[in-house]
Amino acid sequence: MLTLATVNPGEPEVFASLQGEGPSMGRPSIFVRLSRCNLACRWCDTAYTWRFSGDNRPHRDEVAFERGDNQLSLDEAEVAALILAHSEDRLVITGGEPLMQGAALAKLVTMLKDARPALHVEVETNGTVAPHPALDGLIDQYNVSPKLAHSGNAPDLALVPERLEAWAGDLRAWFKFVVATPADLAEIESLQHRYGIAADHLFVMPEGTASAVLRERSRWLAEEALERGWRFTDRLHIHLYGDTRGT
Ligand code: SF4
Repeated sequence: MLTLATVNPGEPEVFASLQGEGPSMGRPSIFVRLSRCNLACRWCDTAYTWRFSGDNRPHRDEVAFERGDNQLSLDEAEVAALILAHSEDRLVITGGEPLMQGAALAKLVTMLKDARPALHVEVETNGTVAPHPALDGLIDQYNVSPKLAHSGNAPDLALVPERLEAWAGDLRAWFKFVVATPADLAEIESLQHRYGIAADHLFVMPEGTASAVLRERSRWLAEEALERGWRFTDRLHIHLYGDTRGT
């Protein structure tokens, strides 16, 4: 069984759109959003995947979601059918933290690749969870977004040294750091040097859920990326669709 997020109560979040961030930005893709996360970022834009009523961990919007309206359990074959109803040749598995459901994801991706062998599968992860051994060989690309101090997570939860080392040595992994202020850049530089992250696999992305905020932060962040030889990514889906589910 997989635990999915919902677009509306009872409706799983499976949709086709353009990938909005990172190395595949702009590519037509199918998305499946899983529920649950092992972290709690104060600016998380998908808090409906984890911040359910009774969870009082800090979040800037102080929102709380009813679990029954925002989660849905489906078996792997049902999820595969929902995904294969779309024709795109790329799949983005996102969350939440999808690697928390690695064994079930291995079953799902096996079914998908049997049905559509050329399907390119990307996983969006916060980088703290090792991929399940049965899943890892099926994944074409990892978009790894380690969470910095400004996320509000305890560093020993958000930055797991053995995982960061493993991602830095995996050519399928692309790092994507969320940046809110120039003060975040020194922390990225420190992680880059400690783990040997290749500059051309290191993206910085402005934090924000409104176009105006992204534009303002992009102006200085792009310059900082250029100076350091890092890559820059915008958040295309926010400009196109706003901060909405199913996009
Ligand atoms: S790791 Fe991602 S899904 Fe989890 S709380 Fe942070 S931003 Fe949200």
